[in-house]
Amino acid sequence: MSDTDAARRIEELRAAIREHNYRYYVLDEPSVSDAEYDALMRELRALEQAHPELRIPDSPTQRVGAPVSSQFAKVRHPQPMLSLGNAFDESDLRAWRERVLKLLGEDSPLAFVVEPKIDGLAIALTYREGRLSIGATRGDGEVGEDVTANLRTVGGVPLSLRPIADCRLQIADPESGQSTIYNLQSAIPQSIEVRGEVYIRIADFEALNNGLAAAGEKVFSNARNSAAGSLRQKDPALTAGRPLRFFAYQVGPVEGVELTSQWQTLQYLREIGFPVNRDARRFSDFDAVLAYCREWMARRDSLEYEADGIVVKIDDFAQQRELGVVGRDPRWAIAYKFPAREATTRLLNISVNVGRTGVITPGAELEPVLIGGVTVRNASLHNADYIAERDIRIGDYVTVKRAGDVIPYVIGPIISRRDGSEQPWAFPERCPACDTPLERVEGEAAWRCPNFGICPAQLVRRVEHFVGRGALDIVGIGEKQAELFVSAGLIADVADLYMLKGEQFAGMEGFGPKKIANLLAAIEESKSRPLDRLIVGLGIRFVGSVAAQDLANHFGSLDAIIAAGQADLEAIDGVGPVVAASVVDFFQHPQNLALVEKLRAAGLTLTGGAPRERRGDGLEGKTFVLTGTLPTLTREQAAELIVAHGGKVSESVSKKTSYVVAGTSAGSKLAKATQLGVQVLDEAGLLGLVGGEGAGGEGQLGLGF
Ligand code: NAD
Repeated sequence: MSDTDAARRIEELRAAIREHNYRYYVLDEPSVSDAEYDALMRELRALEQAHPELRIPDSPTQRVGAPVSSQFAKVRHPQPMLSLGNAFDESDLRAWRERVLKLLGEDSPLAFVVEPKIDGLAIALTYREGRLSIGATRGDGEVGEDVTANLRTVGGVPLSLRPIADCRLQIADPESGQSTIYNLQSAIPQSIEVRGEVYIRIADFEALNNGLAAAGEKVFSNARNSAAGSLRQKDPALTAGRPLRFFAYQVGPVEGVELTSQWQTLQYLREIGFPVNRDARRFSDFDAVLAYCREWMARRDSLEYEADGIVVKIDDFAQQRELGVVGRDPRWAIAYKFPAREATTRLLNISVNVGRTGVITPGAELEPVLIGGVTVRNASLHNADYIAERDIRIGDYVTVKRAGDVIPYVIGPIISRRDGSEQPWAFPERCPACDTPLERVEGEAAWRCPNFGICPAQLVRRVEHFVGRGALDIVGIGEKQAELFVSAGLIADVADLYMLKGEQFAGMEGFGPKKIANLLAAIEESKSRPLDRLIVGLGIRFVGSVAAQDLANHFGSLDAIIAAGQADLEAIDGVGPVVAASVVDFFQHPQNLALVEKLRAAGLTLTGGAPRERRGDGLEGKTFVLTGTLPTLTREQAAELIVAHGGKVSESVSKKTSYVVAGTSAGSKLAKATQLGVQVLDEAGLLGLVGGEGAGGEGQLGLGF
């Protein structure tokens, strides 16, 4: 790159980054993902390094954040509030330790304090004579905004400090188990500046966004921005209504008490009344630091708040002072960043998928985007209301989140990036496969194609389900063949599979004589599958293999199940009212009864119990706890779904809990799960575990990875 090109590019990058900083820090409305922003910063840093003559003091690389908004009074920080340098892998972390040792001397004893990097916004709280006097945002690092009135409403921000009895602070060393007693100079410091992070829990963030969307307001693109936006309200009453939380992790200037290390400071902060992250640890062994980072990378999805990495700090304050600061980053700390989970990309189209029971699910087709090392092409849009309330349009830039096992989903559009070409999307009024007008069941978010008997798209899904491994297990038929058979008119229901004749395949691509013979043999063989497998194959809503085995064993024949009433069904252990009602409903439809007759005529086994060996659907041995409100399933439905797939539902969270399924307004159970490191799922995650069956008894979304 020539010098003039470099100068031009540097200017371009600076202008873009300044604008992004403004949007992010002042408006709380970023228009690009953090990963994109970080890439611009990296490019600018590299160019400035290659062209030191082009460096200027007010380049965005030299400052933290953005200028303060004019809404709030300005507060000059007594000590700058810094940012953190980043490490993206273990070798970056090792290199950081090498640099530290080089500066301090190779033989210096080091200890590290590690803690999750909470994705919220940094604030500074000043207490004089034990009372909160000023609370400020970080702003540009030098000058922040006075948001005291708002901070006073945040749970976890003490308005006055707890005095320490006898001025004695006892601190246990987590490695040796030994306790040290520190004699403090006073029970409360004359003045202290406490720094920490205001954040919002993931479940609260989602509930907040749902509420905003329902009120026709703009949604926040991530938890961090919702915390920042909530804190920076003009009216403190609005802030008070938002579920903000606080963790303290550092001190600025302190008078009256002498603190000498980060670990000691954390214990001290807890004693004087601040919430301190319980997951902070102190290690003198650097390998233990690396192991902690690895462990947290894996546990990240079980946290109730967003953490975008792990902060590693040198424990000793004297060493911290010696190391000092370079630019905006202290040399004594580093953030080990987790791979991003959110990205912005363009919504190319919204497609609808017709499921086995006719539920229509909208899906986002995205411009492929890398999130956490995986290319995401498709994402969930949940349902019609979700799209309408958020005003998601085709052509929009959208924020997409992909976390853990959960299907990626669209958080919302980035309205500031619209150029007018975006097209509002209307939910189809008719089934895209059979043109039947869609219906919406009262109280449900989903639209359905009611053409259960004929709709070809539903039929394809039903065939796929019928031939699946947990059902009739017919090898040689998959989605492609199901589509082919339906579109060629070879079958009009699943029983027609048993009527197929070799000559019907004549001339069809991919069907040689051997293939046809194998296929017909596999179909024939499936006639003798045990009754429970046939029950699964029928695709009754909420009936997975465990419930099917219970039904087969209890009644001994399909005819007896058809004849059973709600009460007879509920008498079976493990079958609750929802599953029972679904079974009764299924056999009330004449076309389902006709299907059973056709299967009988074809020679399928309609009697017998399930084999003794119990086959589950992957949930056997797993214990679930439900908490909060799920978007589509009631508690009862979710519980039955779990039981119907072999899992257990328990009321309280313990170390033995396999999963906590959390919805909005999840309470202490979620906190307990987080504390114990139990994996937390949302509804989509639960449905993913049971093969997507549930609210609509649907198949998986066609995800692009
Ligand atoms: P940072 O978020 O990478 O790290 C520093 C911050 O970490 C601290 O200021 C503090 O707020 C926080 N933190 C959390 N837990 C901590 C702990 N235990 N100890 C110490 N600090 C802790 O740096 P930054 O300067 O706050 O912001 C940069 C980030 O903001 C980047 O990730 C960047 O992508 C994002 N950003 C995005 C946009 C955008 O338009 N998308 C614009 C500007 C910045």
